[in-house]
Amino acid sequence: MKKLSIYIHIPFCVRKCLYCDFLSAPTEREVMDRYVNALCREIIKKSSICKEYIITTVFIGGGTPSILSGERIEKIIRTVRENYQMEAGCEISIEANPGTITPDKLESWRRAGINRLSIGLQSAQNNELKALGRIHSFEDFLYTYKMIVKSGFDNINIDLMSAIPKQTIASWQETLKAVCSLNPPPVHISAYSLIVEENTPFYENTPKLPEEDEERNMYKITNDILFDMGYMQYEISNYAKPGYECRHNQVYWRRGNYLGFGIGAASMVENVRYSNIRELGSYIHFCEGGLDAIEKTSLNHLSEKEQMEEFMFLGLRMTEGVCEEDFYRIFGASIEEIYPEIVEDFCRKGLLKRKFNRKTGEHWIMLTRYGIDVSNTVMAEFLLS
Ligand code: SF4
Repeated sequence: MKKLSIYIHIPFCVRKCLYCDFLSAPTEREVMDRYVNALCREIIKKSSICKEYIITTVFIGGGTPSILSGERIEKIIRTVRENYQMEAGCEISIEANPGTITPDKLESWRRAGINRLSIGLQSAQNNELKALGRIHSFEDFLYTYKMIVKSGFDNINIDLMSAIPKQTIASWQETLKAVCSLNPPPVHISAYSLIVEENTPFYENTPKLPEEDEERNMYKITNDILFDMGYMQYEISNYAKPGYECRHNQVYWRRGNYLGFGIGAASMVENVRYSNIRELGSYIHFCEGGLDAIEKTSLNHLSEKEQMEEFMFLGLRMTEGVCEEDFYRIFGASIEEIYPEIVEDFCRKGLLKRKFNRKTGEHWIMLTRYGIDVSNTVMAEFLLS
């Protein structure tokens, strides 16, 4: 059977963080109920076109999915289970924020089969959390983390953020060390740099941020500290203990099939990309009426050229890189034929390197450490215009 991943968007938060441009907002319980019902309708409706697929990963993201009651989350996952074929050992993740997790919710999540938690911490410094507009303190996080561990979850990711207001190299170092010395340490850490996005309070009124060279140093320190603590960098911003790489995100970077449910959720199935409508009221109205909640103008049947571009720039995000044999198998042409000179040139400049895997007989191309530092420039060269 063909493989498929599922993303479920929960667009609710306790309060909007000052840097956030995600599709999320505070709301009332009634709206949450109507949204969950609409979501379940959408999940059931789309199942008819997925009979030949098996679900390998489910990711409940947001927003703050942990704002929903345990029963609502159980209902969503039950709807998926009743309408799709799930692979044994399917990775089922939920994003959760300190301050919204309770022992009862954790119990419900376990009952539902959730086996991976992604906790939004961002920083271990209370002054930095405050500057970001987060609702929790580091102490709240520690309390939550203990509760999570006690409830038996062991596949835990912690989200961190660098280049944020009030942060220094020393405070970032402390944050990384504080997270690595949790008991037990998380098996996965995502460490992204802050990007000031339009339509956020930070865009309107940008606070003082670390300088560019400080930001670069923070990135380097992240790698060094996490490597020393036994984490392997497997993607530009993601680190894991061996065997705990996030399977769901790898589907995105390897261009696997995925279906998104909920407002604004993106899908890519058999090289057709599309997104759901972003307006909450219209989404609920469409789903309640049994209609497709797809944004028609977003439908894009990817051309072969676009597929090649994505293969390269998404695949190169991963430290493992891209497999030359896979490229040939999918497109019937070699990377050299499609990108004459580029790979050789970048290899000469120390931005890319090649590796031969003796076990599989495959040839791989990947970013070097220097290439990772300037990855945007490297990726841009793989756009075929
Ligand atoms: S908790 Fe996450 S999704 Fe919600 S406002 Fe903050 S950053 Fe955005």
